[in-house]
Amino acid sequence: MNTKDIRKIAIYGKGGIGKSTTTSNLSAALAKKGYRVMQIGCDPKADSTKNLMGGKRIPTVLEQIKTKGEELTLEDIVFKGFGGVLCVESGGPTPGVGCAGRGIISAFEKLEELEAFETYQPDIVIYDVLGDVVCGGYAKDVYVVSSGEMMSLYAANNIASAIRNFGKRGYAQLRGLILNAKNIENEREIVAKAVEEIGTQVVCYVPRSPEIQEAENRGGTVFEFLTNSVMQGVYNELADRILADA
Ligand code: ADP
Ligand code: MG
Repeated sequence: MNTKDIRKIAIYGKGGIGKSTTTSNLSAALAKKGYRVMQIGCDPKADSTKNLMGGKRIPTVLEQIKTKGEELTLEDIVFKGFGGVLCVESGGPTPGVGCAGRGIISAFEKLEELEAFETYQPDIVIYDVLGDVVCGGYAKDVYVVSSGEMMSLYAANNIASAIRNFGKRGYAQLRGLILNAKNIENEREIVAKAVEEIGTQVVCYVPRSPEIQEAENRGGTVFEFLTNSVMQGVYNELADRILADA
């Protein structure tokens, strides 16, 4: 298998905006459609894959490098979650200490050294990345999660500029914004104006929904625990949109 054929997607955004909720529900949607998905959390919070792992955190790559050293194997860092989604958390420094980017890079190097992609052969790899510092290079298609709140749109704008700046060197491209609603006044209009200014588009509108908390409280995505779920439809639509972007 040529690992170059693997579809690699990055989901960026400000902390707390809903990246991991969106990513884990997207992974679950894609898994249900029959794709083999690997989700890599790239946030020192290391809770990206929690809702695919019955609400439990998995050990991070950086933690496992520290404790296992040369003995480290793929089974120590790749965990099979809901729908067979392969879950990985890079880990990272505690906030304010050290460079998160460097931690993420060490984690990626370890995955490469242990031939994670060759071994598991995922169809799609989704990186769930904190912040507006784009290290680039690892994912071709970038999506940004934002609400209509100023700070999250500001982060989206920074991510867009960063991608444009290394655009000539790298191959990443901003595919659009996932509007994860906060229900602020005139949210859709505010975001429509912002994406026009940024030079991108809204690829999916994700409403704010109590279904998310209901599933999260049980340690999962809406696909695992809910029936007659509106949000399943929303995340299926997001999955179809992202598949169509390939
Ligand atoms: P991030 O990964 O960007 O830091 P999270 O995905 O952890 O953010 O989301 C933060 C909180 O917001 C979570 O507790 C989640 O339950 C809630 N949340 C995210 N998206 C939605 C939504 N569409 N509807 C309701 N709650 C949401
Ligand atoms: Mg997160």
